[in-house]
Amino acid sequence: MARYTGSVCRICRRENLKLFLKGDRCHSDKCAFDRRSYVPGEHGQRRRGKTSDYGIQLREKQKVKRMYGLSEKQFHLSFQDADRQKGITGTNLLVILERRLDSVVYRLGFTNSRTQGRHFVRHNHFMVNGKRVNIPSYRVKVGDQISVGEKSKKVQAINGALEAVVRRGIPQWLDLDKNEMLGTIKSFPVRDDLTMPMQEQLIVELYSK
Ligand code: SF4
Repeated sequence: MARYTGSVCRICRRENLKLFLKGDRCHSDKCAFDRRSYVPGEHGQRRRGKTSDYGIQLREKQKVKRMYGLSEKQFHLSFQDADRQKGITGTNLLVILERRLDSVVYRLGFTNSRTQGRHFVRHNHFMVNGKRVNIPSYRVKVGDQISVGEKSKKVQAINGALEAVVRRGIPQWLDLDKNEMLGTIKSFPVRDDLTMPMQEQLIVELYSK
């Protein structure tokens, strides 16, 4: 599967928003967006002109897709799932994305970014209800317990991420026992829990064309 391998900081600059894709660096004065918040490329500083409705919808979709580190196919499948569910499709989509195991381990502070979350899930660092799960797209349910494997409790990157999570905080739909390295899904997130600026209705409009 094709995956973007260039500079992730360019993505933030392209989407004109800090997407927090690089863990601790995003909170430091090394953040490339804070230093140069214009579109990357030779003419980047001149390119913020008028955009069509389609262009605005496309950018919003690209932004959210990149925030969660998904390919177009994965993102579109999530959208189709959201569309099949009852309720508001845009909100359903965001909840589905948040319920991914790679996102949950990031939200719980076991990793510094969703990219690292995906990497560590694939490397068997986490258990769901006591069983190893190495599928980043695994969708957690209410009551699930996400823990760090016994050997993985000594991994420096996981311990470092747990220390750093204080800065961004744990969402109220999750519960974390830091000493036990154990997270619990208290409920599914509601729209107000998702504080990054996302206009999901634009994504619905794009895919409804
Ligand atoms: Fe984006 Fe983080 Fe890079 Fe800043 S440091 S541009 S927030 S990925």
